[in-house]
Amino acid sequence: MFVPLVDILRCVNPHEETWLVASIERAEDRDILAGMLGCPTCLAEYPIRDGVVYFVERQPAAAAVQPSEAEAVRLAATLDLTDARMTAVLHGAWAAHAQLVRGMSPAELLLLNAPAGMVSGDGVSLLVADIAPLAQGSVDAVAVDATADAATIESLLRSLRGKGRMLGPVSMPIPDGLVELARDDEVWVARLDVKVTVSAPIALKRRDG
Ligand SMILES: [Zn+2]
Repeated sequence: MFVPLVDILRCVNPHEETWLVASIERAEDRDILAGMLGCPTCLAEYPIRDGVVYFVERQPAAAAVQPSEAEAVRLAATLDLTDARMTAVLHGAWAAHAQLVRGMSPAELLLLNAPAGMVSGDGVSLLVADIAPLAQGSVDAVAVDATADAATIESLLRSLRGKGRMLGPVSMPIPDGLVELARDDEVWVARLDVKVTVSAPIALKRRDG
């Protein structure tokens, strides 16, 4: 788990959005390999083992797809991962291509429920969770696979920044609030509709007299 990305992780329990406090047992460069994330609100503790943050205790699924250069190119291009300040979530099977994506993109990658065999470090962080444990408006792009349930999709949608992009399989309808940019036989790519972004209320100046 890349230390700066801890800032965008949130407790998954049903209470007001709360950041998490990291206690680090072992780290390499800026990756936490062993430790704990604690919620100051509900006192939940989420262990970090071998660089993976466990919001739920679950073994990773066996890898269903092989890492593919072509899929990595498609992810980096359609999600527009051009900037080192960007953070992208690769959910499920998409995570298999993470190392190849990193080879062509400087964006930080968060793998949500990655298949077995993926390792953290070098711009790749791993999370195991039932919903995306991410702050609202904290990531630039999301690739979601067909195994995502409604709660996962909703939480990923919430985590997108304005104009953020989502890629999903054609078997899944494009979630409300997204505008389709492109599609082929396998996937669609859509962008968060800026119209649905709730803007902060404008402070009205008090007029005297
Ligand atoms: Zn909590």
